[in-house]
Amino acid sequence: MRSRTTALRFSALAVALSAAVGLSTPTADAAMPKSRLTSPAIEAPASYQAQFLCKKNMQPGVKAFRSMVLKNYKGTRSASEVRSCSSSHTSEHADGRAWDWGVRVWNKKERKKAESLLNWLLKPDQFGNEFANARRLGIMYIIWDKKMWRSYTGEWGPYSCSGKTSCHQDHVHFSFGWAGAYKKTSFWTGNVATEMGPPLPLYDSLTKPWKFKVKANQGQKYGGKLLGNGLLYTVTASGTWRYGKKDFQVADAVCQKTKSGQWVRKEGLQLSGVRNLTPTVPSLNGCNTVNHTYSATLSPRGTDAIRYSLTDSTPKNNSGAVDVTIRRIVALPDPEPGPGDGGGGDWNGGDGGDDDWWWRR
Ligand SMILES: [Zn+2]
Repeated sequence: MRSRTTALRFSALAVALSAAVGLSTPTADAAMPKSRLTSPAIEAPASYQAQFLCKKNMQPGVKAFRSMVLKNYKGTRSASEVRSCSSSHTSEHADGRAWDWGVRVWNKKERKKAESLLNWLLKPDQFGNEFANARRLGIMYIIWDKKMWRSYTGEWGPYSCSGKTSCHQDHVHFSFGWAGAYKKTSFWTGNVATEMGPPLPLYDSLTKPWKFKVKANQGQKYGGKLLGNGLLYTVTASGTWRYGKKDFQVADAVCQKTKSGQWVRKEGLQLSGVRNLTPTVPSLNGCNTVNHTYSATLSPRGTDAIRYSLTDSTPKNNSGAVDVTIRRIVALPDPEPGPGDGGGGDWNGGDGGDDDWWWRR
């Protein structure tokens, strides 16, 4: 068996933090099952898939993980499971994709158990695959004692918080990607799983466009369909909305009118994966003041629900909407010179305050 230092060797930060967490202490993780797998094939580290559903039940992979952990670490408990979506806090608990394991950092026995499990999850396997059990289980991130391990960075990083629950000193938080949540990963099936999406229909019709409105007076929404990994789509965003009650306070997907009556580019439509909406009729400043229609192509790099909103810090006095049409295409159209970057923006992520959306590059 390799040492734990080897497990974390490719990140100096991880080594430093693991020492701080106490991960460098030898542990007895023998209680946890050994991998049944005889091949080095393994899942890629789970990418970040944000919370968005309201499920009443824990997903099967999370449940099975909980049972395995509680069985192997006697004297520990389940601290939190499915959480209501009415809670303002965003986390995968509302998807049934997260579990809080009740262990307290100030209790030496429980701390050792936490360290033991984390070691078991993150150590390399006999083939040298880093974070082997976490990957085979499809774990997306872990939070424990003011630190957060993200599968998509492969590192422990600081977790800002205050108080022992928020700082995860009385529990360890585990979030799973959808494949792990569905219990479809190799730890359970023996077969390596590719990334899976939330339980929504795939939009892959070549004939029927998918249309929806992004309303100006509401915050972030999730689309009711998935875009397919590697498929090609065009996105068209059309129409104007008001970001205030005054006459000049008009905007479209990409630009807004200023007091002086000029249209200028300003963060407008946020639609995950879409970063360069281009005017279909070019006007000044990269805007389209003729019919306020913009388009972009999109080729998702994973399978996840799309998120959208119109950016405005005070959406209450807004009105109107931008109409979005997504069409699946078979080949990219000829490239046209665009007026520059735009449309992209930052999102706030889940429990970990993360914003690694899967199609970020
Ligand atoms: Zn939690």
